Amino acid sequence: MTTTAMGEARAALSGARRVAVLTGAGISAESGVPTFRGAGGLWRRFSALDLATPEAWADDPGLVWEFYDYRRRVMADKAPNAGHQALAAFEARLAEAGRPFTLVTQNVDGLHEVAGSSRVVHLHGSLWRVRCVGCGRESENRDVPITPAYEGAGDPGADVVGRGFGPEDLPRCGCGGVVRPAVVWFGESLRDEDLRAAFTAAAECDALLVVGTSAVVYPAAGLVPHAKRGGAVVIEVNLEETPATAWVDHHLTGPSGEVLPELLAP
Ligand SMILES: [Zn+2]
Repeated sequence: MTTTAMGEARAALSGARRVAVLTGAGISAESGVPTFRGAGGLWRRFSALDLATPEAWADDPGLVWEFYDYRRRVMADKAPNAGHQALAAFEARLAEAGRPFTLVTQNVDGLHEVAGSSRVVHLHGSLWRVRCVGCGRESENRDVPITPAYEGAGDPGADVVGRGFGPEDLPRCGCGGVVRPAVVWFGESLRDEDLRAAFTAAAECDALLVVGTSAVVYPAAGLVPHAKRGGAVVIEVNLEETPATAWVDHHLTGPSGEVLPELLAP
């Protein structure tokens, strides 16, 4: 990252009335949050691709819950980093100035809220919400373990054989239906209201900040051109160049925990 790039990006942000931000796995990885995607990211012998699917749920909901219960448990010692905090402080400053701000995230860990961000669009749902497969009701749920039966479960070791949770062990809604994690699984559609909020923010913003996501996978791949067409300046913060780097207005290379505090400082 050059000082010039940083200065130009700062100038673009301060000249923008409406700001939108899209964050992805990169910003949470700096807090040590595992995604269970890619090399080395396994839980037992599974990757997220094996368990974060409607097929896995249909096959063994008890195992899927054991995986998510583990992911929720892991969050206990994870904290927002300087990047999350810089975004929250930036949002507060813009709010004081009456400048609209929308934070759209692909992350399900909730660290933006822990850092103090208040307007967050969760494109991929949240680890901390559940949805009833019977009545469809969605609610916040912070129980760890998710039910008493899961106490002490979730060992991620490669050779662990699952305990085999049955229907009686699963978390349930008031209506009696089983609840599932309210996250968007592979093969599922993003929720219309979240997509609409994200695309509206991209269309209306004067500056779009893309942090820790490669911007080639939907919906990021759609949001960035959408913002450009609407006349926004696009600033990318990533550890490395991405396929979008060639045509964003400003690319800042580095960990978001280092780049964002400088970029978003008053
Ligand atoms: Zn229900």
